[in-house]
Amino acid sequence: MVITEQKLDQLREILQGAPKKIALLTHTNPDGDTIGAALAWRAYLERLGHTTLCIAPNRYPYFLEWMTDIGHIGVFKDDVDGIMARFIAEAEIIFCMDFNQINRLDRVTDTVTANTTALRILIDHHLHPPVDGYVLQFSDTHSCSTSYIVYQLIMALAGEESIDQAMAESMYVGIMTDTGNFSFSTLSAELFRAVAVLIERGVNVPYVNSSVYDNFSEGRMRLLGYMLNDKMVTNYKYGVAHVSLTEEEMRRFNFIQGDSEGFVNYPLSIRGIRMSAMFIQTKHSVRVSLRSRGDVDVNVFARRYFDGGGHRNAAGGRSYVSMDETLQNFHQFLGEYFGEKEG
Ligand code: 5GP
Ligand code: MN
Repeated sequence: MVITEQKLDQLREILQGAPKKIALLTHTNPDGDTIGAALAWRAYLERLGHTTLCIAPNRYPYFLEWMTDIGHIGVFKDDVDGIMARFIAEAEIIFCMDFNQINRLDRVTDTVTANTTALRILIDHHLHPPVDGYVLQFSDTHSCSTSYIVYQLIMALAGEESIDQAMAESMYVGIMTDTGNFSFSTLSAELFRAVAVLIERGVNVPYVNSSVYDNFSEGRMRLLGYMLNDKMVTNYKYGVAHVSLTEEEMRRFNFIQGDSEGFVNYPLSIRGIRMSAMFIQTKHSVRVSLRSRGDVDVNVFARRYFDGGGHRNAAGGRSYVSMDETLQNFHQFLGEYFGEKEG
């Protein structure tokens, strides 16, 4: 059990007394879980009387824009006046939501590491939790999402009466998106009981579902069709499929940030494919997304070859060479990784 009475006492002690300045940080390229967890936890801290600010290193995807509390997320990249950097520097407590490596803060990393006075607390579900740098860690690597850990914290500290509709919605979005709309292997009966509570607290399931999943642009749909038809490469020897997108291809389909969300999952629904990889060109590097089924461990793959990590069945990383070279390397890595495992 990750949420022990001892840790809860420590947390209560840190949060009690005079109102404090508290920053909540999401990981870069924020997803539904890091945003949902930060917003729900923020609402709880505000209720206790604290002054809070949720900060995302860069902009959240447009399919989260409808969320009730989304206006409470500040985007560090757009903060021309340095208000957020100052808030972080002055914060007495910093909550790190949904990431295990400080460099997942991207451009916020330096601001946070330069600040030595704040108490840093981690709430996360990624493998390999950090060994130091935090006064308190709520790390549950078996949890389906960070939002579910936040739910368990709020339930333990204040009970379900304290969960209002916006908080319930935030946590539901995190759980829904990080479980692939309730389809991954991290599901449990307890999780569905928690979801039942969130529904009782006011989540409108069809509304949330279609706000996230039926709200894409036409360009995104056409890009998906193009990518699967023209760019998908299958390798049945290893049970691997990969796709890639260049900047030119993304421009052709009026790409906006968030459009490629979920693309990497499609090749996994082909019979015989156990691992899927997606390579997306960005200005300075190639972003790598990996998904797998069963015991194919893409966390190890991402850590070993792409300077990244994540979970066993969902991980990511980066490549700092050209797309062509990245794809050549990938073939070599596959031979090494699967050849090594078979041999
Ligand atoms: P996605 O492919 O959706 O960007 O990420 C899948 C999972 O891998 C997420 O849990 C995410 O946190 C993790 N992940 C993605 N990119 C990186 C990375 O560069 N470093 C690490 N450590 N984890 C990553
Ligand atoms: Mn997560």
